[in-house]
Amino acid sequence: MKTILTGIRTNSVLTLGNYLGALLPMVRLANEHSKDFNVNIFVPDLHSIISDIDGDLQKNIIRTIKYYLAAGLEVNENVHFYRQSHVPAHSELCWILNCVATMGETSRMIQFKEKSKGQESCNVAIFDYPILMAADILLYSAEFVPVGEDQFQHIELTRNLAMRFNNRFGETFVVPAKTADQVKFMEVENAVRIRDLLNPEKKMSKSTAAENSKIMLDDEPAKAAKKIMSATTDSFGKVKFDMFNQPGISNLLTIESLVTGVPLQEVISTWAGETRYGDLKKKVAESVSEMLAVFQAKLAEISDEEVLRLLESGEKYANEVAGAKLLDAQKAFGLR
Ligand code: ATP
Ligand code: MG
Repeated sequence: MKTILTGIRTNSVLTLGNYLGALLPMVRLANEHSKDFNVNIFVPDLHSIISDIDGDLQKNIIRTIKYYLAAGLEVNENVHFYRQSHVPAHSELCWILNCVATMGETSRMIQFKEKSKGQESCNVAIFDYPILMAADILLYSAEFVPVGEDQFQHIELTRNLAMRFNNRFGETFVVPAKTADQVKFMEVENAVRIRDLLNPEKKMSKSTAAENSKIMLDDEPAKAAKKIMSATTDSFGKVKFDMFNQPGISNLLTIESLVTGVPLQEVISTWAGETRYGDLKKKVAESVSEMLAVFQAKLAEISDEEVLRLLESGEKYANEVAGAKLLDAQKAFGLR
């Protein structure tokens, strides 16, 4: 059975952008394919500690699993949740792959260049994490790894490492699908990109300091509604979907569509030409606050115990699968 694998770093509470752009698409994929695929959802806690943690890491880990469940992920015997640090094979394979990867190729990673830029002394993990990510994927022979465009280069690196390892040491790893095929598998035309509410030219990010620029998944619904009402728009005075000239309005239309499930074209034609931006804002504020209320109520129903039970059984599976693959790699290298 083929494997789909995904993980989101758990450094803080997620935003509406993370929810609509990463969580919901993954839940859709998982529910669609979990009868015929292994669906591995892991918490990359070793990736999380590369940078500062906002809050308590243990609480963040549990909450992240709850997010998937509250977003509608249907659990069956093919869906596996696990914490990366509870499966030691990740760190061990990372070391072996470190001996296969070159400084040249890892130095070319755009994420590394961006994240280390301007930092007087950045930690080694910022440089090495794509190799750990390769281990995360190769240990489970995962073919599909739905990620944002910012991670495509790391998928290509993983493919190169797997092919090089197989050539040098014998067929050991399944090479993940090419990024173009990954996109096809996700059946999306465009990746979702929710904009910052105050500066809609930029994307909404959890690390942006301004409170009103982002909606957090734990915002009180009324507070989220206020943030939508104070979102930056424009002075055209006419609703039109035009990301370039009217990014604020276009962002609101996008959010309305994704939150309600009404196709974007339909939302656009309902509001096209409307001159009172306040009416559109009111409708979007209502939709978002309703969605948050439902999501938060579901979240509150999921107990820590339920999550821990899922993690324990998932980690048993993960240690078996990853342990066997690690052993193959150790044998290929002559370590066993
Ligand atoms: P940070 O500011 O810490 O980088 P972030 O909000 O950009 O946080 P990430 O942890 O970098 O979030 O990304 C987690 C996932 O959410 C990724 O799959 C990413 O593609 C997706 N994502 C992040 N921001 C948005 C957004 N504004 N719209 C849609 N998807 C997003
Ligand atoms: Mg980011």
